[in-house]
Amino acid sequence: MRRNIHFCGKKSPDVKFKKDAHMLSEFLGNHTLLYDSECDECNQKFGVYEDHFSKYVGVARTFLCVKGKEKIPKFKSPGGNVVFESSVAEDKGATISVKRTEVLDQSFQIDREKMMQSIHFTKHPYIPLKVYKALLKMALGCVPSAEIDQYRKAFEFVTSDDHDSKLRHLSTVYRYAMPYSFAFTRPTAFLYRKRVPGSPLFTHIFVLSTLNYIYELPIPLYAPDIPFYSGEGINVPMIPPLFENGYPFPSDTIRFSILDLSSVDTVKGEKEVVSFPIPKEVLEGLRSVDPITGEEHIAPFEPSEINGMEFIRGAPLPPHDTNASLITTSS
Ligand SMILES: [Zn+2]
Repeated sequence: MRRNIHFCGKKSPDVKFKKDAHMLSEFLGNHTLLYDSECDECNQKFGVYEDHFSKYVGVARTFLCVKGKEKIPKFKSPGGNVVFESSVAEDKGATISVKRTEVLDQSFQIDREKMMQSIHFTKHPYIPLKVYKALLKMALGCVPSAEIDQYRKAFEFVTSDDHDSKLRHLSTVYRYAMPYSFAFTRPTAFLYRKRVPGSPLFTHIFVLSTLNYIYELPIPLYAPDIPFYSGEGINVPMIPPLFENGYPFPSDTIRFSILDLSSVDTVKGEKEVVSFPIPKEVLEGLRSVDPITGEEHIAPFEPSEINGMEFIRGAPLPPHDTNASLITTSS
């Protein structure tokens, strides 16, 4: 896809355009939507942002079986005590295996009253502002060519660290998180544009549906919007999460968060939990098989005694398994 944007404004032969550049990040499952807006230097810089974004989303790509550049990535928690791995068979769906190295740790827990099983682990370190810039880069890459001049400051912000101290306070993103039973296996983006030029709103809002998340990012620094930032402030309309065929799960399981991604300090040791319901009859009727004698035992399920689990995601894989697409619309 040819787009008349160059993130840094440099031209060939000063910079090269040899690498494949993805309009929406490849690690999120976009293998088809490419553009020629990134020189190799920008591409490398954005690769660093994407690395932080991939650490930020943690286990989601593995648990939801989203293929990156070559395959579905394995997730190993720092220190390696919890490992998630996925394999997909075309007709049978996917198997996700979770193993831990130390059975006495607290990584597998069970809440018998709520009948919930959970897996606890630590995420890899990430820098929030770099996560934000990974999203901002995708948003700016989708802006119509005719409007790029108005985003000059935003392009400077995303391509260098020089403006971070002055502009990083703008790094707010709104997010809907869906249960892990749901996945966008390829990313989809919407760009909303305000109708009334004088209204105190961001001109564009970028919405990215990916993994089990929907991110809403008001694109900052559109020149005519800047006067709205002071005084009364600027409004951000919440765009409801949209799915192809209604809600594929109870809508009260969607969690909404306002993410402040302005920090330049590394976040270390952030905990993550993957939880899922476990039916009563399963909880009470689990059988174990002695791998040596083949003898079956009927015993209550005791998570402290297991060192691994396997999950089967039935075929077909989760909905929205269409080609990555960019949809532009007016709000
Ligand atoms: Zn460049």
